[in-house]
Amino acid sequence: MTSPRPDLAELELQELEAALDARGVERFHARQLYRWIYRRGVTDFDRMTDLSRDLRARLQTEFDVSTPRIVSDERSIDGTRKFVLELSDARRIESVFIPDTPSMTFCISTQVGCAMACGFCLTGKMGLVRNLTAGEIAGQVRVLASATGLLDFPFNIVLMGMGEPLHNYDPTMKALRMLHSEYGLAMSPRRITLSTVGIVPGLERLAREPLMPNLAVSLHATTDEQRTALVPPNRKYPLADILEACRRFPLKKRSRITFEYVMLDEVNDTPEDARRLVRLLSGIKAKVNLIPLNPAPGIPYGRPSDARVDRFAQILADRYITVSVRKSRGQDIRAACGQLIVEGGTKKSAAQQMALLLR
Ligand code: SF4
Repeated sequence: MTSPRPDLAELELQELEAALDARGVERFHARQLYRWIYRRGVTDFDRMTDLSRDLRARLQTEFDVSTPRIVSDERSIDGTRKFVLELSDARRIESVFIPDTPSMTFCISTQVGCAMACGFCLTGKMGLVRNLTAGEIAGQVRVLASATGLLDFPFNIVLMGMGEPLHNYDPTMKALRMLHSEYGLAMSPRRITLSTVGIVPGLERLAREPLMPNLAVSLHATTDEQRTALVPPNRKYPLADILEACRRFPLKKRSRITFEYVMLDEVNDTPEDARRLVRLLSGIKAKVNLIPLNPAPGIPYGRPSDARVDRFAQILADRYITVSVRKSRGQDIRAACGQLIVEGGTKKSAAQQMALLLR
């Protein structure tokens, strides 16, 4: 059952100051609390030793600090770690730590499941179970930074785990503000990348945000027909609208929009696709990240050969588009892009889960 006590994990610094103020507690304690929770990974009030004993006792009775609980931590031979985290209502999500990319990177979820139903993605097969709260989104970062010993070191965040961040807009942006707080992890927006399938009203709101993460758009196809089959939201937000929103998107000097392109064997990986992609991106400060599919049971597509991937990449490079091919990480623990799914996370039986995957 949800506790009626305010949850400090859900509060931005100013909200925390106001909550303390309302209880007659000095506002400056909010900064101390933020430092303990975000910078030191401590959520037990008893261990917050720069607060008086009386204050700690009051906080204990008046507030909660919910934190996702690690239920499994699988390590790949390449150093990638896939964490299954349990939330306060026992729902589960997955978050991934990818070392040396070249920085340390956490791939974070924004929803339990996802409503976007992309045809090559296991999370999409789950459907949307629920949105994550801001505290749950930021909480993943606290938990992973603690578990990997990176609380005092720089790292990147990519919002590319389970869910579509712009489909859970307000909690996602609130979580980014919490992570950005100078009394917390002080994360620079340059170290945060938000990845979207292109929810156009969300892109337009994002363009007006004071705290602007890097933008990655999951394109995956070069015609509306092909894209609607792979990324169903394309029916509502077709390629021309998404690319127009990208053209208008305010970019900082030297920044570019990353276009992600999952390569599916003999589906979207032909030289014609590559040439169409070049034309679509004309006038946009773009770079392209090619992601050869990680095949998985229940996903009806294959991985193209290296030769097909190279040919596609070469056509983009010849037209002066910066292109990279994503090395697959954590394949042995199914931590790669599009493979995040929590068994039992939707409270379905194993047989129902399998039926969903095979649908
Ligand atoms: S690829 Fe991303 S947006 Fe598409 S279904 Fe999977 S999690 Fe959702």
